[in-house]
Amino acid sequence: MPQLNRNIANVGTGFAAFLTPPGPEVIRFTVGQPDFATPLPVVEAAKAALDRGETTYTRTQGTPEVCQAVATHLHNTHGIETDADDVLITPGCKQALLYSMLATLDAGDEVLLLSPAWPSYDGMLKLLGAVPVHVAVRRDNYHPDFDALNAAITDKTKAILINSPNNPTGAVYTPQEVEKLVNLAIENDLWIIDDMIYATLVWQDYPYTSPTSIAGGAERTLTLGGWSKGWAMTGWRLGWMTGPTDVMSAVKKINASAATHVPTFLMPAAIAALDLHGETAEMAKQYVERREVIHQLLCQLPGIVVPKSEGAFYAFCDITGTGMSDVEFATRALEEAQVQLIPGSLMEDGEGLVRISYATSMENIIEGCRRLSVWLNSL
Ligand code: PLP
Repeated sequence: MPQLNRNIANVGTGFAAFLTPPGPEVIRFTVGQPDFATPLPVVEAAKAALDRGETTYTRTQGTPEVCQAVATHLHNTHGIETDADDVLITPGCKQALLYSMLATLDAGDEVLLLSPAWPSYDGMLKLLGAVPVHVAVRRDNYHPDFDALNAAITDKTKAILINSPNNPTGAVYTPQEVEKLVNLAIENDLWIIDDMIYATLVWQDYPYTSPTSIAGGAERTLTLGGWSKGWAMTGWRLGWMTGPTDVMSAVKKINASAATHVPTFLMPAAIAALDLHGETAEMAKQYVERREVIHQLLCQLPGIVVPKSEGAFYAFCDITGTGMSDVEFATRALEEAQVQLIPGSLMEDGEGLVRISYATSMENIIEGCRRLSVWLNSL
């Protein structure tokens, strides 16, 4: 038999082992997707496009209308200045991540990840023969450790990948921290790959800060996001990407070779989503309420220390006080308390931590925490 790509063997399986759908009796704190239905106007827009027969090939980077809608959204919501011509619509933010790496990295290049980091970054980089360099965040609040970042830079470092609000930690980096990250990238001539998929889900009194808003940031930042999380559209596979014109020319080539474009009839739906206000505000309101309740309940659990989730829908708990490893904690929580959660050591630097997703109903949050409380107090 001919050989597979040798890099495949280095790619891990991420959270898969702990994401297996359990029986209905189990409360799932594992799933990283909104529990809301996609808002109706979005669904209607896709149906109407199908009824109009919009099922043929179209412009590969996305129609001018959807690219303009993204440019306008990025400007209005996040102060990101970009031209619609430098926007590409991708099959999910995940594919935008892969494109950003394909466009900027050669085999052997090192990329700084603030860890524990979402496992797909590691997998994608290894697939391309690039080298993920995990730099642990601060243990008290999961924010960047700048001394550690500086110490990790070598002459092979080519990029830094930022994800704020963060999966798995729920941290939202402050404007001052983003400025320091941009300055570190400038001083070391690095690309900044900014995964801002959770940018509209911030529960702090400061917003998501784009590296493009810091002097010297725009020319080295690739901004990647999408509809999955903020608009409850995970299955639609719609993402976006923008950056400097020369980078986007390269990315357009990659996309034209790899995907052609996202489904034509989904593009009007993507525009409809960006026009929504009430529906997204309602989802945000519910996340804020859940975040308060889950924080209060988790803080009452013996042996658990958890900073308040700052964004996205993740609470990241230090469980070392229970005396268990995170894998033992997650395994026993499933078996003994019927609660499913993600052990941190599935990611580098995640030992002793567990991720809890509060993208689930208030009822599940209360019941899941009650079960954890009964279990932990009985040990
Ligand atoms: N980036 C992060 C940090 C994520 O957590 C996820 C999904 O879990 C993605 C990107 C993928 O987003 P999409 O569904 O748009 O591919």
